[in-house]
Amino acid sequence: MTLVPLPSAPGTDGHLCLALANSVVTLPGGRQVDELDTPANATEWLVNHHLATEGTGLLEYCQLQLADLRRKLRAVLAAHAEGVAPDPGSLEGLNRALSAVPSAALLQYVPGGGLSRVANHPLTQIVDHAMAQIAEDAAALLTGPDADRVARCASAPCDRFMVRTHGRRQWCSSRCGARQRANRAYARKQEAGSQAG
Ligand SMILES: [Zn+2]
Repeated sequence: MTLVPLPSAPGTDGHLCLALANSVVTLPGGRQVDELDTPANATEWLVNHHLATEGTGLLEYCQLQLADLRRKLRAVLAAHAEGVAPDPGSLEGLNRALSAVPSAALLQYVPGGGLSRVANHPLTQIVDHAMAQIAEDAAALLTGPDADRVARCASAPCDRFMVRTHGRRQWCSSRCGARQRANRAYARKQEAGSQAG
C-alpha cells in the first residue's frame, strides 16, 4: 500500500473532495504517489473514507472511474483556486457524478432474522454512490463559506489542495513551508550568482 508520506493538508479531513483530489501528490524530486494506482488500493481508499464496506473488491473499471473523477475534480479545484473558469468537460464530469443517484438499499426479509436493508448493489453502484458523495462535497465546498479559502499548495512541486486556515501561509504542511523557504533562498543565491557572473 502506498501512502502519501505527509500529514493531511488542512481541510482534507472534513472534505471528501479534497481527500480524493489529494490522493495523488507530487513529491520533491518529482516522484508521484498515487493512492488509487490499483483496484485494491482504490478499494482501500474507499473503505478508509467510509465509502465502501470492508470486503468490497473494486474492478479496474471502477478504479478508472474514480481516477477520472479525481482528474476532473482537480481541474475544477485548480480553476477555482486561480479564479478562472473551469473547463466545461471537467465541470460536466462533476455534475454527472453529482446526479448519478444510486438506487436505494432494498428491504430484504430473512426468515428468523426479519427485515433488513441490503446494499446488494452491483459494484458500479457502490462506486457511483461514492462518487456522488464526493461530488456533492465538492459542490458544497466550492459554493460554501470556505470557498474563498480553497487553494493549491504553493510549494512546488507539491500539488495538493487545501482549505487555507486563517493566517496560515499558502502551503499544505510545515514540510512544504520549509522547502518553499529553502527554494526561495536557493533562487536568490542563483540570481545573485548569475548577476555576479
Ligand atoms: Zn504541499
